[in-house]
Amino acid sequence: MRPRKPAIRTCIGCGKSEDKREIVRFVRTPDGAVELDETGKANGRGAYVHAALECFETAIRKRKIASALRANVNEDDIGRLRADFERVLGHPGAIDNEDGDA
Ligand SMILES: [Zn+2]
Repeated sequence: MRPRKPAIRTCIGCGKSEDKREIVRFVRTPDGAVELDETGKANGRGAYVHAALECFETAIRKRKIASALRANVNEDDIGRLRADFERVLGHPGAIDNEDGDA
């Protein structure tokens, strides 16, 4: 028995489960837009994607994010979400780091 309780989420890009530290959360805002949830704690319906660009591309291009969040995702949204995603990928640990040691 291990005391640690892992938080497992399923990537909608490749369908594999992963510890949530390796996963990026997207959330549907109250007005129906989709945003990257850097805190992982934002209120609203969430969808999870590996911190890997190929999973993001699969999720966004096959409209899995839109379908999972029941939201509309247009080309402008995709560009914005990709920029946010790449920014997060460039800062490992930034997703689940509440201490903010930067
Ligand atoms: Zn994945």
